[in-house]
Amino acid sequence: MTSSVRVRFAPSPTGKLHIGGARTAIYNWAFARANGGTFILRIDDTDPTRSTDENTQIILRAMRWLGLDWDEGPEVGGDFGPYAQTERLDMYKEAAQKLWDAGRAYPCFCTTEQLAADRAAAQARKDPFQGYQRRCRDLSREEAQARIDTGEPYVLRIKVPADRGDVVIHDAVHGDVVFDAKELDDFVIFRSDGTPTYNFATVVDDAMMGITHVIRGDDHLSNTPRQVMVYEALEAPVPTFAHISMILGADGKKLSKRHGATSVEEYRDAGYLSDAFVNYLALLGWSLDGETTVIPRDVLASQFSLDRISKNPATFDPKKLDWMNAEYINAMSDANFADQIMLPQLHEAGLIDDGFEADEAWVDALAAIVKPRTKMPADAAVVAAPVFATAQTLEYDEKSVAKGLAKDGMGAVLDAAREALDAVAGDAWTPEAIDGALEPLPDALDAKKRIVFQAVRVAVCGNMVSPPLGETMALVGKDDCLARIDRARALAL
Ligand code: GLU
Repeated sequence: MTSSVRVRFAPSPTGKLHIGGARTAIYNWAFARANGGTFILRIDDTDPTRSTDENTQIILRAMRWLGLDWDEGPEVGGDFGPYAQTERLDMYKEAAQKLWDAGRAYPCFCTTEQLAADRAAAQARKDPFQGYQRRCRDLSREEAQARIDTGEPYVLRIKVPADRGDVVIHDAVHGDVVFDAKELDDFVIFRSDGTPTYNFATVVDDAMMGITHVIRGDDHLSNTPRQVMVYEALEAPVPTFAHISMILGADGKKLSKRHGATSVEEYRDAGYLSDAFVNYLALLGWSLDGETTVIPRDVLASQFSLDRISKNPATFDPKKLDWMNAEYINAMSDANFADQIMLPQLHEAGLIDDGFEADEAWVDALAAIVKPRTKMPADAAVVAAPVFATAQTLEYDEKSVAKGLAKDGMGAVLDAAREALDAVAGDAWTPEAIDGALEPLPDALDAKKRIVFQAVRVAVCGNMVSPPLGETMALVGKDDCLARIDRARALAL
């Protein structure tokens, strides 16, 4: 199903894609998908001093990693291109010329000194309007043209109709927002250096690209009445606006570097899953039903709606993101977890090499015990490390040894465990058989079960936090388990 809904995400490539921008992109993408509409990516690169191609590439990479596929934009093209503002300068010039011809814009020759003097005078007489005093508004076309012809610098200003009245924005998130007509300035749409201003270029693009809904951060709400003036001057339909709230850090301040990682790629590099990250960001200011937290991408893409966006600022909570990431990891099948997370992490940690070959059932069994203990992908290698060690290479964690082995009576526990385990046939070395062999020991030794199992765990795994003992020992193999117990015997009292 396709509909007429057309939305855009229009980042300025002045930096990396950050959390706030990513959330704006997610909302636009999800809104387009939920409505069978078109999602457009446009690069707002009109600020030449701060925009770089490198940043554009970083943004495109981040969008791909987030899984936010765009229907029109860089690299995919479309009927309304080009999709970078620097390639659209002729269109802005043409639109500005038309507005001048139609009497909806005019050249202004006021110098910065003149403007400053006018502002100071307005302040001195306590004029409620301290904007541009409209000195050049009524210059005749001939006079203006003559001054341009002599090379006098000028900007182009929009002509706000004298009787315009208040501007009311029907915002899908904030409801009706009224801007006082008195605050409307004849603002600049083209600078003297021949470049368009943001408020002009954006509206020309949005109008020409047929954008129906503008979903963006509410730091742009104050720009909106000016943009409405441009739509009206262009005689283009005004889209529906949805201004989404800020994202705050835990201290209630606007999210910034001070709060930790803010760019999408930092989260990608830290090992967060794209699906979990998108799910978490989607919930910063939107909810499906007020309670569901795990919202798979396809549900987001079918159920997203503007009316469930909150007016209130959202708080970014890294702990909740971690929780979400663990939820997504846990929901993976063992085989997917092994392929997508565990094996790559083992490889990265140097626990396996390119030639690693293992029985599928063995890998799945390992995945089954590692997965529930993996909150971040890198945890997988830490949890699995004892399995890949040998009796010679296993590292013993000092604290675990002190707590679990270097204690009176633990030598006897290891001796008894070794004997019981040695009695299990090598070809019947299963978690059940191992647990069965260890089970009677506490009673036989008149010791607490926890103490006995802890000693064996430290002896075989080197620490006290490893996965279930029977499963781990089965993966390690009988001979090496016994050799580890022999080595650990020297540490036990
Ligand atoms: N390039 C603008 C920004 O990054 C886009 C604002 C808008 O969506 O209109 O903030």
